[in-house]
Amino acid sequence: MSLTLTVDGERWRRHLREVAEATPGLVPVAKGNGYGFTLGRLARRTQWLADQGLGCDTLAVGTYDELPHVATRYDGSLLVLTPWRPFGAALELDPALDRRVIHTVSRTEDVADLLDRRPGARFVLERATSMLRHGMTARGLWAAAREVAARPGARVEGVALHLPLAHGAHLTEVRRLVNDVVAAELDLRTIWVSHLSAGELAELRASYPDLTFRPRIGTDLWLGDRGALRVTATVLDVHEVERGDSYGYRHRTAPKAGHILVVSGGTAHGIGLEAPTGDASIRARAATVARGGLDAAGFVRSPFSIDGKQRLFAEPPHMQASMLFLPHGARVPEVGEQVDVRVRYTATAFDRVVVS
Ligand SMILES: *Cc1c(COP(=O)(O)O)cnc(C)c1O
Repeated sequence: MSLTLTVDGERWRRHLREVAEATPGLVPVAKGNGYGFTLGRLARRTQWLADQGLGCDTLAVGTYDELPHVATRYDGSLLVLTPWRPFGAALELDPALDRRVIHTVSRTEDVADLLDRRPGARFVLERATSMLRHGMTARGLWAAAREVAARPGARVEGVALHLPLAHGAHLTEVRRLVNDVVAAELDLRTIWVSHLSAGELAELRASYPDLTFRPRIGTDLWLGDRGALRVTATVLDVHEVERGDSYGYRHRTAPKAGHILVVSGGTAHGIGLEAPTGDASIRARAATVARGGLDAAGFVRSPFSIDGKQRLFAEPPHMQASMLFLPHGARVPEVGEQVDVRVRYTATAFDRVVVS
């Protein structure tokens, strides 16, 4: 009935422990759809890692709105990655979480604004990187550091850098940015970073022995061992069709004999159309039409595969189910059978997550 994420629990937990052991200062990131697992489950897992003495004194969430999903399941500090602004959800923070939340301040003027409202606030100062998403210039950081120095109640917890995904090409940029931090006349000993390899972190730690580097990791932690994960849909119905039979919301006609399969998983789960198959040139399309190819009939590749072969949508996915076309000759699965689905975990809402 469901679009299901099945997790080999022992293998997944072993991977989480290995990453935590190998990554001093690790800050797990739980945001969005919880990387497919849900935010609550990731918060409980982070608590489980912390309870084993594997660090994890801080969990990062993406937004202020996500805090209620994790705060009751994990008892450490909560870093909010979306920068604080003097409006919206940041101002509606539950006072009970005041001491646990670490804000991200990415504009110089927000330092005074935040501290006027919450004089004892904990926060990191975000320095802009080549990503240019959020963050201050070096001058902005120095001005912020002066503002902080004038406010004895402020609890600045370090500097945050959000780096692009270019694995292996970061060190020059990070060194330049870290030098800006060192030049700020403030005790900023902790640098919170993303997307650095273990080798890059080791080099930075060797170059800056006085600083503590804290890597924020989501994907490589939760989704780092794909072999522990399997995504399946259920075959809900099977209909035999002859060439010319009509089906679907738009009464398309079957281009040849085969079966229409109805499987669980649709737009509500994040199942979308994939790129059209094969060569899209007119000549290639004409050749496929001549052979009676299904892509020429306008069929688009789906993320569902049966017996290892990726199948085509018979029409665009519906809200919670999809219709696939299975040409004559292929093995026809039974109603109730599970079929594999290739998904982007961060963009999929599973009906069920089953952890063994
Ligand atoms: C999402 C995010 C991360 C973690 O990214 P992954 O690629 O999932 O490890 C780290 N830092 C920030 C600011 C983020 O938004």
